[in-house]
Amino acid sequence: MDDFIQPLSEDFSEIFFIQGKNRAKYPYSNSLLIGDHLIDTGVSPQHLRKLKKFYPINHVLLSHWHEDHISGNFLLENAKFYCHLKDKIPIEDIQKMIPLYNVRNTPIEEELRKLIEILKIQNIKIDTLINEGDIFNIGEDLRLKVLFTPGHTAGHCAFYELKTKIAFLGDIDLSKYPYYGNTDANLEDFENSIARIKNLDLNIVATGHRGVIEGGKKILEEFEKYESIIQERDERILSYFSERERPVNLNDLKNKNIIYRKYTAFKDFEVIAELLMIKKHLEKFQNTDIISEEKNGYLLL
Ligand SMILES: [Zn+2]
Repeated sequence: MDDFIQPLSEDFSEIFFIQGKNRAKYPYSNSLLIGDHLIDTGVSPQHLRKLKKFYPINHVLLSHWHEDHISGNFLLENAKFYCHLKDKIPIEDIQKMIPLYNVRNTPIEEELRKLIEILKIQNIKIDTLINEGDIFNIGEDLRLKVLFTPGHTAGHCAFYELKTKIAFLGDIDLSKYPYYGNTDANLEDFENSIARIKNLDLNIVATGHRGVIEGGKKILEEFEKYESIIQERDERILSYFSERERPVNLNDLKNKNIIYRKYTAFKDFEVIAELLMIKKHLEKFQNTDIISEEKNGYLLL
């Protein structure tokens, strides 16, 4: 067996962590295989082809619409596909991703189209919608529960196996870069989803871009780190509101490494995503009466 396929439970032989290519660095991501159910398809075509040889995959559960989680859909055309209603449109029609990333008529639009082509992402039809509390009975014993965890995208779902207390968290990814840089993201929902998952009884978690994390205490620590990254972003943004009378505009916060502490080769995209994420913080500050939006910009209340 190949080393990207890792059994997760000693008691139940049908649960595997499937590590994405390049340690699941974008544009790849990790998957969970449980019986004949696969969560997400972004491990890479090479990995997916090998996996299919060892294990039949009859059901594909998609955590959300992002390209790095659905790129292998075209290799599983005989399986049944599942996702939440709110993420269905860009999975069935990939071009709909462009406005969701707010990149229409920017150089990134062309780059994204090229990436979609390189990854060979194809439209697929969703057979069944999933919802909070749905249970997939898998084999004799396993019961995989759907947790509706919006924020990263509007229809993001995590999955929790009740017997083993193993969870797959999609892009509540416990990485250094919590992400909410698409127009359908919502920071307050994201933080509520994180808090909710954190309070589950968890033995093992796997995420879209981090390896396996084992043990309740270690998992809790990782959640706290993840939450603190978002809080630090809150603080960095609020530090621009130093004078009560001086309004702050979105442009004052552009290109300032507030979210991405270092821009990479993908700087053009990062600057757009960063601004969208800052906007999500500002929306949160407005909803919680910390700032208000006035004619000349945002003002501290
Ligand atoms: Zn994502």
